[in-house]
Amino acid sequence: MGIRFDSVTVAYDGNVVLDALDLTVEPGEVMALLGPSGSGKTTALRAVAGFVRPVAGRVLLGGRDVTDLPPYRRGIGMVVQQYALFPHMRVDENVAFGLRARRVSKGETRQRVAEALEMTGMAAYARRHPRELSGGQQQRVAIARALAIRPDVLLLDEPLSALDAQLRSGMLAELARLHRELPDVCMLYVTHDQVEALTLADRIAVMDKARLQACGTPRELYRAPTDAFTASFVGGANLVPVTVGSGGVSFAGTELKVDTRGVVAGARATLCVRPHVVGLEPGPEQGPGVNQLTGVVREIQWRGATHRLYVEVDGHTVMADVRELRDPPVHGDSVTLHFAPEDAVLLPAGVTHE
Ligand code: ADP
Repeated sequence: MGIRFDSVTVAYDGNVVLDALDLTVEPGEVMALLGPSGSGKTTALRAVAGFVRPVAGRVLLGGRDVTDLPPYRRGIGMVVQQYALFPHMRVDENVAFGLRARRVSKGETRQRVAEALEMTGMAAYARRHPRELSGGQQQRVAIARALAIRPDVLLLDEPLSALDAQLRSGMLAELARLHRELPDVCMLYVTHDQVEALTLADRIAVMDKARLQACGTPRELYRAPTDAFTASFVGGANLVPVTVGSGGVSFAGTELKVDTRGVVAGARATLCVRPHVVGLEPGPEQGPGVNQLTGVVREIQWRGATHRLYVEVDGHTVMADVRELRDPPVHGDSVTLHFAPEDAVLLPAGVTHE
């Protein structure tokens, strides 16, 4: 069963916090709603769950308009950040909660609780209370509780943000496994963490200021972003203001060769170049690289496989992730960077994410 937002608008006291959202999540798909805090992600999720009523637009589940249905009649499982387990109930009772409310028989309930605890690796903890569990285990129970009702749609609201970094990456792998084991369940996953979105999602919907900015596969958004906000929010990017010429752009008095098809000469635009495609002169290849920029090293960070250089070029910082640097430059050195024309994307001049 898929989800469709059909021009969904939500407002609080006349303030629009979700502005005419059009978005379709296919059956079995994991869609991440990615964006900064306050961009309207949770509101979109709550509109699907039925906890908030749109002032305009419709929400469809499996093609059926559910906008006027109460939450418990939507067949949805939901997992939120703060686990929200009942402290006085044992793990198995917590997981059975949604089934009791739905009047599922005792025998069936036992079976489904066992199955959901098995799936989340919590079978051995069935008789414990939440306070006897770690944060990660509590979140597994919350996921088991959501799965026990056998939802067609699973809504996850920042489910990992209360966990520490190591637990988070383990749980991320488990969610990916669950997705493989439940290929028909469609998941809408709210996060402000691009790593979670890039790891888990089939597609990412990027939100900013109550609006959908872009939607695509992680690869599409990374390789060919269509706006500066998305480019900077997904993956990190050098975004520099340029003026478009014929067959290239000019930046800081330097002519750079890039694909300018579809952009009017003389227009102002933003050039997007990912740090990992920026090389340091002289490169390992024969001859000098195209699109050279000379500047001063302001910072250098060792990141294991790469060095991240921050180079100031005419008042703008250009980031370069350079591999296998035997003799790295030091702070204050003058260096020349280069990038290939096909590795740059020209975007409308616009807002970026800081
Ligand atoms: P996100 O999930 O992207 O952080 P939210 O959807 O939670 O964003 O919130 C979007 C905006 O709506 C925020 O400005 C928030 O303050 C506001 N908001 C959310 N819930 C309420 C509410 N119940 N009453 C008033 N304003 C709200």
